[in-house]
Amino acid sequence: MRGKIIRAVRTFRIFQRPAALADDSRPFLLPGVPAWVLTVATRLQAAGHQAFLVGGCVRDRLLGREPKDWDIATDARPEQVQQLFEHTVPTGIKYGTVTVLAPPGTTPSRVEVTTFRRDIGTRDQRHPAEVVFGSSLVDDLARRDFTVNAMAWDPRPGHERLLDPWKGRQDLQRRLIRAVGNPRERFREDALRMLRAVRLAAELGFRLEARTRAAIRREAAGVDALSRERVRDELLRILASPDPQWALWEMQDLGLLFRIIPELEPTYHLPQAKPGILSLLDHLIRTVQHCPPDPILRLAALLHDIGKPATLTVGETIHFHGHEVAGAEIAAAIARRLRLSRAETERIESLIRMHMFSVATVTRKTLRRWLGQYGEEWVRQLIALRRADSLASGMPADEPDPWLDRLEDELNEILHRSEAFRLEDLALGGRDVMRILNLKPGPAVGEALRYLYERVLEDPTLNTPDKLGELLKEYWRNRQSSGEEGRTSEKA
Ligand code: ATP
Ligand code: MG
Repeated sequence: MRGKIIRAVRTFRIFQRPAALADDSRPFLLPGVPAWVLTVATRLQAAGHQAFLVGGCVRDRLLGREPKDWDIATDARPEQVQQLFEHTVPTGIKYGTVTVLAPPGTTPSRVEVTTFRRDIGTRDQRHPAEVVFGSSLVDDLARRDFTVNAMAWDPRPGHERLLDPWKGRQDLQRRLIRAVGNPRERFREDALRMLRAVRLAAELGFRLEARTRAAIRREAAGVDALSRERVRDELLRILASPDPQWALWEMQDLGLLFRIIPELEPTYHLPQAKPGILSLLDHLIRTVQHCPPDPILRLAALLHDIGKPATLTVGETIHFHGHEVAGAEIAAAIARRLRLSRAETERIESLIRMHMFSVATVTRKTLRRWLGQYGEEWVRQLIALRRADSLASGMPADEPDPWLDRLEDELNEILHRSEAFRLEDLALGGRDVMRILNLKPGPAVGEALRYLYERVLEDPTLNTPDKLGELLKEYWRNRQSSGEEGRTSEKA
């Protein structure tokens, strides 16, 4: 009995209670709300409904950031919202969301209008529980994940107010992500919130409040049951954030990282022969941090040495023979498991497979071939990955890397001169080859084209119809005579 009372008192102290809705009666102006968003709210209000800006857009405007999307919460039912606006999309009617589309040329192009809900996010992601439309804003805010996401703004002219029952503004000032209410319960309701916490903190440069953090530690196993698509979206946003190094270590410390990518666990135990680098995982995470903020490139960076634990051999020195090939396969399997697209998976796979290329021996011909095979973005990413890799191995950031700099200069030069690099860019095509050599369609045509392609990769000035025509005839003569030799020797 006594224990129960103490627990009740503790609970009362620990978990915040919602404060009174409005702090005072002075208008609270929220800067930078687009006129059209206000128009949508006004139209709802003119029809006798409540309408508040809620969630991420309020948070972002208070921080002076540009919101990704604009959300309005209302007591109007989805059908009523649809009737009030000309162009709507029933984005999530079941969950009460109607997208209202703006007239052409207006920004933002859409506003999400959602009926007050009592249920946001559910225990079982595959079978969301029935959504109960609550009737009040307070219920709606109480179901949101974090205090900084649980504020609403009333835009009525002259009556503008910030409604902040969970003291989100205070947490914005302290730069803290704090769960609304009882954090463990909130994470049990929806495990994605644990990843959202890290993602939001990484994007905003915030930290996790201590109790929220402790709750994630205890509930981390919940992420196993999440749909992979939801996990993927959060992971990619964490990687693209300004501070992935902090976020990835935070995930590791909270017990989230190895649940999502168990293949990384052995890298945590593998020491590095690099000055000041604690483990292979440390090296991998530093590599991510040194890459430009493209999430796919950064995922490749995180996984670029994932083949090392499996290929480790200890002789006189430690070796990881062929780790880039083994690693590319492991990484591709991870990418598929995370439901990345085929193109994204191939990008990660090829970057990792190629990341050990010998920088000193890459010729212009190699660069042209890479450009033809993979395209400019890929070549730039391969160079960026390699640069990040050496910075993450202890190379000082303020020293130039002459080899990679040379490679980049050559790449720019090749692109500037728009030298041909794809087979399709040849000045002669298959039909020309057949006409010049008097051939019928067949494998010999493709072989001849590939020969010409190799020659042009070496020397792009050869790429004119005349020069290629000459080369082609010469190639054909040589081929005929060596073919005859072959036949003679066969007979002998
Ligand atoms: P951003 O738009 O930058 O991704 P956001 O906070 O706006 O960040 P959204 O996914 O757009 O995130 O969600 C809008 C709002 O809905 C959030 O601010 C939050 O209040 C609420 N919300 C979203 N997902 C959840 C969830 N899993 N559990 C509880 N509330 C959520
Ligand atoms: Mg949003």
